[in-house]
Amino acid sequence: MSIQIAIDGPVGAGKSTIAREAAKRLGFVYMDTGALYRAIAVYCKLADIDSYDEKSVVSILPKVNLDFKIAGGEQLVYVNNRDVTGRLREPEISMAASRISSYGAVRAFLLDLQRDFAAKNNVIMDGRDIGTVVLPDATLKIFLWADPHERAMRRYEELIQKGLSTEFSDVLSDLVKRDAADTNRKHAPLKQAEDAVRMDTTGNTLEQSIEWVIDTIKLNIEGL
Ligand code: C5P
Repeated sequence: MSIQIAIDGPVGAGKSTIAREAAKRLGFVYMDTGALYRAIAVYCKLADIDSYDEKSVVSILPKVNLDFKIAGGEQLVYVNNRDVTGRLREPEISMAASRISSYGAVRAFLLDLQRDFAAKNNVIMDGRDIGTVVLPDATLKIFLWADPHERAMRRYEELIQKGLSTEFSDVLSDLVKRDAADTNRKHAPLKQAEDAVRMDTTGNTLEQSIEWVIDTIKLNIEGL
């Protein structure tokens, strides 16, 4: 049986960076599940499908072939053999991903893909519903939290570093909207699993949070 570590939490809690680095240092495979929702959002955009139009979004799912590869520690995401990695973090795609992730058929479409991957690999998987829905029997569940203002600042700096021009106030309001939508949706809402270890990363440096996660994993999983 593979070792499965679930890391969930709201937007900008540092999940992806922490999970990717912890996986690298501990020899696990990392899977960013948000990238899957984002990839479908990119596909909708390319196919000129309005993300508010649930029927149309659901109708294109059979045509979507998702694939991902790890290259240089980065997860590259392909939709129908087209590398869409560079577009995944665009603010418009973030909002569309959040919207389409509330559609039950979209979640069902991605469920087996995530579970199959976790069954075949020792994995650290991050998202919103990994500990509650995707991997309810995960070996270890971690819920990362941080103050919304600090999360927005981290996300803002990340976008600026990537050369995307944006305002802090827009980043904060998108983050609050996305968290509210993720928390209040009907299917697999964002919530801490009862058996998850919770960590508030407010005020931490990234390295402190990475070390805490690695220590928690080592403490809870024998032989690491
Ligand atoms: O984690 P990230 O911000 O990249 O995720 C983009 C969006 O995808 C989230 O706002 C959320 O709505 C959705 N998502 C989800 N379940 C996951 C991962 C992401 O609903 N496991």
